[in-house]
Amino acid sequence: MKARSIAALGERHAPPLAHARGNLLVRAICGAAPGPTLSVLIYHRVLARFDPLRPGEPTSEQFESRMRWLKANFDIVPLADGVAGLRNRSLPRRALAVTFDDGYRDNHDLALPILVRLGVTATFFVATDYLDGGRMFNDTVIEAIRAIDAPVLDLEADGLGVHSLAGDGAREAAVRRLLAQVKYLPHARREAVADRIAGLARAPLPNDLMMSSEQVRALRRSGMDVGAHTRTHPILAAISASQARDEIVNGRKRLESITEGRIALFAYPNGRPNVDFTAAHVAMAREAGFSGAVSTAWGAAHAKTDLFQLPRFTPWDRSDWKFGLRIASSRWSSEAQIADEAGTASTASANVGGRVS
Ligand SMILES: [Zn+2]
Repeated sequence: MKARSIAALGERHAPPLAHARGNLLVRAICGAAPGPTLSVLIYHRVLARFDPLRPGEPTSEQFESRMRWLKANFDIVPLADGVAGLRNRSLPRRALAVTFDDGYRDNHDLALPILVRLGVTATFFVATDYLDGGRMFNDTVIEAIRAIDAPVLDLEADGLGVHSLAGDGAREAAVRRLLAQVKYLPHARREAVADRIAGLARAPLPNDLMMSSEQVRALRRSGMDVGAHTRTHPILAAISASQARDEIVNGRKRLESITEGRIALFAYPNGRPNVDFTAAHVAMAREAGFSGAVSTAWGAAHAKTDLFQLPRFTPWDRSDWKFGLRIASSRWSSEAQIADEAGTASTASANVGGRVS
């Protein structure tokens, strides 16, 4: 069955279907997926309250409700167990793993207590240079745009246009446009642009968005897993091979020193195969001795999926069972996009939901 047709079926019949029947449909479709299948969810943040500048991030209530629904309808496994299960074909029928990217403090403060309470083991991929008071460039842009006390942001001199800041909607649109423009700039230029926008805020920006080293240790002590996500979150495909190796290997070393344990899993920053990373970086992750790695290609992992390019899924649907149908459709779709030697997209699937990893 075509992935799109399952999702379309759900959309078309959404109003008359009771939630319970929707859940049954999701369970039936997922449980009957061909062969062992692992869905992996990507989260970034869990917020204390809705943030109009980060409308895609769930509040802690929404996150808890989603986790409860997933627990009732899927077999949630630690990602490491999912990787092992794919390797030796011992996955439960509705296997699903939960991951967080980047290392935000709210992962520790808000998500962790919920995960512990529900008995869900998540994997947290941490970019190490931002621990203990750092701030990623995207957060500098978002927090500066929140703080700028003007109706317009004029970045014409930087070649980045003029942006209305009249109201939350306009500010959120400005954030999206600017992040899309800035994300692929060389690291130094990206930081310089973020700093310039920060300068226009004329107010100190928060330095407590990311976890401390001690909070990373606390995740591990609470039974969660920690994975590597480089040091500075670069677009690996845009830096030299030696820089990329340094990012991959030393990000991991720092986490191993912080947690005093082995770091087995890796997440490619931004994560789009052949765009953000290539086959060369897959080889580096393998050579570094990881057990597996995750991308942000849309889809689910099957028995033949490369364990160093496991696809993931951004859970943005508001309704549980529509979200479930989207997971179901990913489990029935063909192999996810991978980075290959030719460096070309092997399938057309793209991740949905805007920001990735
Ligand atoms: Zn990331």
